[in-house]
Amino acid sequence: MIPGVHEHERSTGDGFHEEVHRALGARGWLFPSWPTEEGGAGLDPVRRRILALELERYRVPHVTLSTTALVWAAVARFAEPALAAELKPGVAAGGVRFCLGYSDPEGGSDIAATYLRAVREGEDWILNGAKMFTTGAHNCQYTFLVTRTDASAPKHKGLTMFLVPLALPGVEIQAIRTYGGERTNAVYYTDVRVPDRYRLGEVNEGWGVLRGPLDAEHGAGRETDGLSDVCQGRVFLWEFERALEATIGWARRSVRPDGTPVADDPAFLDRLGRQIVELEAAVVTPGPMGRIKGSLTLIEGVAELVDLVGPEALLAYSADGAPAAGELDFAHRWAQGTATYGGTIEVFKNIVAQHVLGLPRATYPGSKALVR
Ligand SMILES: Cc1cc2nc3c(=O)[nH]c(=O)nc-3n(C[C@H](O)[C@H](O)[C@H](O)COP(=O)(O)OP(=O)(O)OC[C@H]3O[C@@H](n4cnc5c(N)ncnc54)[C@H](O)[C@@H]3O)c2cc1C
Repeated sequence: MIPGVHEHERSTGDGFHEEVHRALGARGWLFPSWPTEEGGAGLDPVRRRILALELERYRVPHVTLSTTALVWAAVARFAEPALAAELKPGVAAGGVRFCLGYSDPEGGSDIAATYLRAVREGEDWILNGAKMFTTGAHNCQYTFLVTRTDASAPKHKGLTMFLVPLALPGVEIQAIRTYGGERTNAVYYTDVRVPDRYRLGEVNEGWGVLRGPLDAEHGAGRETDGLSDVCQGRVFLWEFERALEATIGWARRSVRPDGTPVADDPAFLDRLGRQIVELEAAVVTPGPMGRIKGSLTLIEGVAELVDLVGPEALLAYSADGAPAAGELDFAHRWAQGTATYGGTIEVFKNIVAQHVLGLPRATYPGSKALVR
């Protein structure tokens, strides 16, 4: 393991470490299923699963790794072949990385309501507008950008996707730091001139281009080969496991005022046991329900662990006496964002209602979905 990776992650919240990313690329492990001659490692599904579990076990920062993989699927399918061929070696080696430019400052969950404008001018397009929460933009070369190219068409029909080079004049990236310790960005586009070759798919047919990566992020088409995680929110549960370990470690070395070990306290063990049962239930919750269960198990579970440990649970990373180097404080803060990114819990409840229970599509008076 390259030294200082975890410290770097705690101080930056980037979800990315360049040296690690490139080291993975050098071994073909960013796209491990790709053949070696294309920059991958030619790993079969079992070896890919082992690799994924090891990366998680070592807590390798993976946000930019994941967004690059999501976007690559759309680039491979919809970019002009020369552009895809030009980018592929860099993507495999780790020097070319992609982030997701979906959320408008106003659009939020309703991505199709985006109003960042792209207007054709000769062989170029001129972009004006802003995106919120473009995580990793400061570590990426391109953003997978949703733009509006026809304001008069129904909202899903006037969108066009671009792979926008972030180094272009007129792109400004501003840091946003979250309560959970993550870094994301607001990205402003002022008269940004993008050559047409960076358009992905047809003009005004961006929704079809976007659907693939969006559905993949929402968990559609997940492998059912018996190797993949059952729970879509499994990534949140790794953090909960670490928080449970921290609590168990604290209990083993702590005593009550009467001198009895915390680890022998039946009330403590009962409450801890309930959280372990919740974890086990979450790990085997499938489909979009798993995304909701994973997030809620972490949010509610860590709150319970903080209550069990008491005030010292909220000592932060690097503070004297922080249990497991501030693991509980970190997990408690980080948990909150998991209800939002990649689709909020409420949006996932709608997905469960419509696609699992077969209920009619929900409409809300005054919702953004109704505003043109
Ligand atoms: C740390 C972080 C990283 C992120 N990274 C990225 C990124 O890399 N790229 C990117 O494009 N975006 C990113 N996002 C944005 C994220 O996907 C959005 O925040 C999310 O989609 C919600 O949008 P919003 O915050 O505007 O809330 P809104 O959509 O305005 O929602 C406000 C509230 O209304 C509820 N709501 C909204 N629509 C419905 C509905 N149809 N039914 C029921 N309830 C509803 C929501 O659940 C929420 O409680 C990130 C966000 C965070 C916090």
